[in-house]
Amino acid sequence: MKWMEQELRLLSVASLERSLQDSSIDLEFPGYTVRSERALLNLSSNNYLGLAGHPAIIEAMREALLSEGAGSGASRLVTGNRAPYRRLEQALAEWHGSEAALVIANGYMANIGVIGALVGRGDVVFSDRLNHASIVDGVVLSRAQHIRYRHNDMEHLRTLLSKYRDCRRKLIVTDAVFSMDGDKACLSELALLKQEFGAMLMVDEAHSGGIYGRRGEGLCHNLGLQDQVDIHMGTFSKSFGVYGAYICGSRTLIRWLVNHARPLIYSTALPPSLVAGISKALELVISDHWRRERLFEATRIFRSSLSQSGFIIGDGDSPIVPLIVGNNEVALRFSRELETQGIAAVAIRPPTVPDGTARIRFSLSAVHSDKELMDAADCIRTIGHRMGVL
Ligand SMILES: *Cc1c(COP(=O)(O)O)cnc(C)c1O
Repeated sequence: MKWMEQELRLLSVASLERSLQDSSIDLEFPGYTVRSERALLNLSSNNYLGLAGHPAIIEAMREALLSEGAGSGASRLVTGNRAPYRRLEQALAEWHGSEAALVIANGYMANIGVIGALVGRGDVVFSDRLNHASIVDGVVLSRAQHIRYRHNDMEHLRTLLSKYRDCRRKLIVTDAVFSMDGDKACLSELALLKQEFGAMLMVDEAHSGGIYGRRGEGLCHNLGLQDQVDIHMGTFSKSFGVYGAYICGSRTLIRWLVNHARPLIYSTALPPSLVAGISKALELVISDHWRRERLFEATRIFRSSLSQSGFIIGDGDSPIVPLIVGNNEVALRFSRELETQGIAAVAIRPPTVPDGTARIRFSLSAVHSDKELMDAADCIRTIGHRMGVL
């Protein structure tokens, strides 16, 4: 095992070693995280709508915990498919206007399971170069040919689709909002290309579900493209504030997945209490439009404060705001400086992002106030100046 220590030392020297940091929260102050007994403004959480500590969700989970018990005891195909699942999947299909829906343990397993169920040897997956790691792993595990197109480069994708025109099954897969950059996929162009080349289209709405659309259905609905997308995937771990993932699509698709998605078949069903909590979160996502409005307002304020200070953060309205500094060590120091000033914002480094694009990734929440965000932006500017990033 000596090799491990040597490799870890190299990681550490390159400012690339990760370590686990304890954080705790106080439900009364959902915009903060507590680290070493200090409350830090949390600009590194995916709790976009502020639902993670919502009393109605906690109550729904508590009730189901008392009536259904702690664990589900088996996988869904055995005896783990308890009542809360049916209720949730019906509500999901209705919300999405799709024929059917399927809940899978989490986003990572959903992507692995779905991609592995749709394609195999002899098939091709066309995947945006900046897609989430769970998509990459799903393609690798599926044994299909893995073709990565340049980020949002539709000409490049078209060339590749032409080249592999005669393959058996073709799947195009993309994040709707890219998790480390906060920009959006070219969904209308993807829908056209999918038609033209007879491919399947899968969209991962992990960072857009709950946020875009009149009832939080996601970016595809917001653009009126829901019927062009064959496989809608999203998570309950981000804007829903709970945990888990969903697939929405045709009845045939869901039937296929129940028979072929290995993470569904070979893993224990989520605890019923969690599933009941997700149902309550879905109700709140649908009804509390004001949370989306507040999130976009908060995002506008934060983005414009940073732009006015001279930071290049790109435009857009996503609550994911990357501040690319390039160098790994600088990103790490920047993050530590922010922590000293009472702000939690992690440094994202390779291999999560491409080499030379280390960054601070801010993610905003409906629970942050204007003042908190403007003060944070001031603080970021001061540090940026001091470190020569601005
Ligand atoms: C977070 C994320 C996932 C994984 O979801 P989990 O429920 O956290 O496992 C998948 N895809 C994207 C784009 C994500 O950002």
